[in-house]
Amino acid sequence: MHEATAPVFAVVAPAFLSQFKDIEDGQLRTIFKRLGFSGMVEVSLFADILTLKEALEFDLMIQTEKDYMLTSCCCPVWIQMIRKLHPELLKKVPGSVSPMVACGRVVKRLVPGAITVFVGPCLAKKAEAREADVADAIDHVLTFKEVADLFEAARIDPADIPTDLREHSSFAGRIYAVSKGVSEAVAVTLDRIRPDKPIKVKAVQADGVPECKRLLDDLEQGKTTANFLEGMGCAGGCVGGPRSLIDRAVATAKVRDYAVQALYPTPIDNPYVVELLQRLGIRTIEELLEDQEVFARHL
Ligand code: SF4
Repeated sequence: MHEATAPVFAVVAPAFLSQFKDIEDGQLRTIFKRLGFSGMVEVSLFADILTLKEALEFDLMIQTEKDYMLTSCCCPVWIQMIRKLHPELLKKVPGSVSPMVACGRVVKRLVPGAITVFVGPCLAKKAEAREADVADAIDHVLTFKEVADLFEAARIDPADIPTDLREHSSFAGRIYAVSKGVSEAVAVTLDRIRPDKPIKVKAVQADGVPECKRLLDDLEQGKTTANFLEGMGCAGGCVGGPRSLIDRAVATAKVRDYAVQALYPTPIDNPYVVELLQRLGIRTIEELLEDQEVFARHL
């Protein structure tokens, strides 16, 4: 890592809380830097931006009590299930990249030549990062387990590592790591940006592949009245991902704690979201829906 000729960034999934034994969450950035990374970016900042986009898409797509949409972006297993089992529903999925892809793309725009390494609990992200239309974003995907092994091999001693935790994300982006989190994030953001919209988010969620399949079947058979359908491939959401290193209930509590401690309740209150969008040439939140290069995806 110290011999890399380009800056290397660790792009860390929102489920990272308390994943690494004896290491405080705030020490992670310092550790990555000691290993030779140029920096660490929390993907939750980009979950914030995608939440804003989803709330705007909801506002656009949901005009009557019969309208509905499926959450689009964060879980590749859910998206693959829709593609394979119910391709006719793809028109109800707003075209957005995942927060991981958004993060990788923005890092590479702001730091030309940067190498991006996603770190998370997910094996499916390894395949997602190689999908042709988003392969420009993430160079490598490591699981929490692989990174824990790296820390062990590097003989990291947490005792002499200072903490460096930053307030870059809102409640909304932080809560993505748990089932129902995306729905909660979009609902609270919609209320914030469109308080007068008469139709509110009426969400239903599924976590785990069998439940996701059941939800899609229910939708096809007209058995749900929800207008916002969220699916996560793992039981409990990403905190239950196959390479999560801690108990799912503990991980869920840690993520929720971190979310409620956020300084900003929604992405629109987060100055880092506003600044990032401006640096990308997106001057108003509505212009997010016009973007075709960074956050959009043709599903
Ligand atoms: S829910 Fe599971 S499969 Fe989906 S993104 Fe999270 S860890 Fe990956």
